[in-house]
Amino acid sequence: MSNLTLYDSLTGELRPFEPIHAPNVGMYVCGPTVYSDVHLGNTRTFLSFDLLFRYLKHLGYKVRYVRNITDAGHLESDSDVGEDKIAKKARLEQLEPMEIVQRYTVGFRNVMQAYNALPPSIEPTATGHIVEQIEMIKKLIADDYAYEANGSVYFSIGTYLEKYPYGELSGRSIEDLESGTRDLDGQQDKRHPLDFALWKKASPEHIMRWPSPWSEGFPGWHLECSAMSTKYLGEEFDIHGGGMDLKFPHHECEIAQNKGATGHGGARYWLHANMLTLNGKRMAKSTGNTLDPRDLLTGESPHLSKSYTPGAVRFFIHQAHYRSVLDFSDSALQAAEKGYYRLLASIEALAQRPAQGPDRGTWNVAEWNAQCSEAMNQDLNSPVLIAHLFDAAKAITADQKDPNILGRAGAAELLNAMNTWMFDVLGLAPEHQSGSGKYQKALDAAMSIVLDVRRKARESKDWSTSDALRDALAQGGIVVQDGPEGSSFRVE
Ligand code: AMP
Ligand code: ZN
Repeated sequence: MSNLTLYDSLTGELRPFEPIHAPNVGMYVCGPTVYSDVHLGNTRTFLSFDLLFRYLKHLGYKVRYVRNITDAGHLESDSDVGEDKIAKKARLEQLEPMEIVQRYTVGFRNVMQAYNALPPSIEPTATGHIVEQIEMIKKLIADDYAYEANGSVYFSIGTYLEKYPYGELSGRSIEDLESGTRDLDGQQDKRHPLDFALWKKASPEHIMRWPSPWSEGFPGWHLECSAMSTKYLGEEFDIHGGGMDLKFPHHECEIAQNKGATGHGGARYWLHANMLTLNGKRMAKSTGNTLDPRDLLTGESPHLSKSYTPGAVRFFIHQAHYRSVLDFSDSALQAAEKGYYRLLASIEALAQRPAQGPDRGTWNVAEWNAQCSEAMNQDLNSPVLIAHLFDAAKAITADQKDPNILGRAGAAELLNAMNTWMFDVLGLAPEHQSGSGKYQKALDAAMSIVLDVRRKARESKDWSTSDALRDALAQGGIVVQDGPEGSSFRVE
């Protein structure tokens, strides 16, 4: 069905993609822990998998894309100790944990929508699948892959090692992993230092708790993904994705749980998206080194000189390969924006091209299109795809002087292909693409008059007029963004 190859982190090689039940594809991606707003780093990872989702659909696959919402069980330490991240936030804000979950789930979905990510097919929550998690634990206990101690249940690495290797995904030896375990609270019940919790007995102050055969408690963070991927995609499915930092312990533990419970390691292809950095350091909530994806759209951040459209930000993200580290900077984003607008302008020019010249031109659209596919088939090489799009833009410019370059049918084919790659595959929101050019032009003309009136009001410090204009426009779905270089607008 396709010549797609994907880099599988488990085997460390590029492998031809062969789905188990073509044309169906099952894909699971670890979703956010909804205790705070997602940052641009998280957004990058989810957009990387949106690109994969879109490309698989483009290839004609029927994709069931499952991306969970972690709304319980993820502890502060990312391991078996500490407070639940959501419960902690609820305590600090004096809210119900589910109010926290609701707030940040809605926020996450809004960000994904703003950046034109397609919604997954299923978005299951950990708390909605406690029963499935308990059932998986029972299976693991029955086969000695898990044991109970003081109301908690741990995965037994000792038993597991009798049959399977552990540490394959992260490429670490047992000795390395052991030396990395700290002597933390909660280790005393474990038989092996690498054992990890499947179920934790809740301490009296732990409010997020459910009944189970072992105690009133809560499931371990790793377990939800094993239980939910198995439930919706089967014991063996095609693709599992997540950010690079989830390889260990999260995905390593998932593989162990799956193998223990079903004999299969879950996914056949493990894909990991690389990190977004800010000032050379990983963007991470814990260090506060973050950018809010919504601030890019308003320009309200000390890291930014202006606001950007979601399409420009997405273009910046996909100009890097998903497995490369990408460093954020305002200047890099500005450069990406320029390139993005150049491509949009050339698509616009192509759409307006007069029907002139021969039927076929000298520029071979089919060959160019095949090169675009080849780039994406090489482990989603979006930067190479984008380089091909710039080649096409050059051809479009040349064709404006000499219609023998594209020809009439060639131009129509190229327009179709450009739209497919830009909007369907790369997911760039066609915000400035005038599907019907005359309306866009009319809107631009009217808005330039309104924004000029508002600018004058602001210059004379007539805030009530400038605010009234902004609010009235917002009522009509036009959001005005003020930046150091003036005001711009977008239609929501
Ligand atoms: P979390 O909510 O912390 O589980 O993170 C959600 C997703 O974002 C996971 O797949 C992480 O691997 C990913 N992620 C976290 N930080 C970054 C970053 N700086 N760049 C790219 N992805 C990240
Ligand atoms: Zn997960």
